[in-house]
Amino acid sequence: MKYTSALVTGGAGFIGSHLVDALVSKRVKVYVIDDLSSGQISNLNPNAHFTKLSVNSPAFVEYLKKVKPEVIFHLAAQINVRVSVEDPVKDAQVNIMGSLYLLKTAAEIGVKKIIFSSSGGVMYPQTARMPYSEKIFPEPISPYGISKRTTEMYLAFAYQTYGLRYVALRYANVYGPRQNAKGEAGVISMFATAMLAGKPVQINGTGKQTRDFVNVEDVVRANLLAAQKNVVGEFNIGTGKETDVNTVFRKLAKLTGYKLPERHGAAAVGEVMRSALDARKAKELLGWVPAVKFDDGLKKTAEWFRKQK
Ligand code: NAD
Repeated sequence: MKYTSALVTGGAGFIGSHLVDALVSKRVKVYVIDDLSSGQISNLNPNAHFTKLSVNSPAFVEYLKKVKPEVIFHLAAQINVRVSVEDPVKDAQVNIMGSLYLLKTAAEIGVKKIIFSSSGGVMYPQTARMPYSEKIFPEPISPYGISKRTTEMYLAFAYQTYGLRYVALRYANVYGPRQNAKGEAGVISMFATAMLAGKPVQINGTGKQTRDFVNVEDVVRANLLAAQKNVVGEFNIGTGKETDVNTVFRKLAKLTGYKLPERHGAAAVGEVMRSALDARKAKELLGWVPAVKFDDGLKKTAEWFRKQK
């Protein structure tokens, strides 16, 4: 499908700002809304049309009716699992109600397609066989995971009822330049920032817990393909490979010149021990395969964080 205008919600954030760059370079007219709760103006491409707005506001509905984008990439979200456990209402207000305002209005104004940033890491039961495929019945346990699955279900409803097309991309652990290193962001951005500052880094528990790290460039490409291809539904976006946290620590220590000894603290409560996604459906129907090798992506990310110092 061809389109000349797109809205990126959460476009001042980590993944959103990279997506905005890619859309601008494809000469798409790009609108961005973001409430800047974790995103930053400095991430934003100067050619994007930015408005500071919350997805969970009546003003957002009015904005959509005025702008009428052809495609919406919906990334704005409360992304912290722990916050969602402490305040499920706040999580639902942004992640569920914000998404509902968006899709109901999108149907009214004739948006061609919504590409939703969902999560694979919180979607599948830990008892299932890894790497997790989309065939496994979702059983999210955190309010954050529940809000992502709920939005997917509303999107399926809007497709059935109004014919509003959608793709939900269930990302693995995304990493790359511009990832926020505060709070409970990705382990790579947190380790890289601390190591470059020479601050002691502590690994949670044994460090043998694994994650499926997918580079932000690959995630952006998945979004572009999802908008372009004539497909609807849920797709895992991951590499299928597991990397443990100790390996991330050692590789980053080398890249950043970090010399302090490896230190382990208590295991994080409720942390899953293993995670990896099977993305064969994305390969078959979107023509998507991850292209960035982990070592290359890690090097580029460490270099970016070094420049930020
Ligand atoms: P991010 O925090 O950098 O981006 C989220 C953006 O949304 C931020 O710019 C923030 O300011 C904005 N935002 C938050 N609440 C808002 C609101 N009410 N109205 C408008 N804007 C609001 O995080 P990210 O890693 O770039 O995540 C982007 C999307 O991808 C999110 O939906 C997230 O759940 C999803 N995701 C990310 C990962 C990952 O590993 N980073 C994994 C799975 C899914």
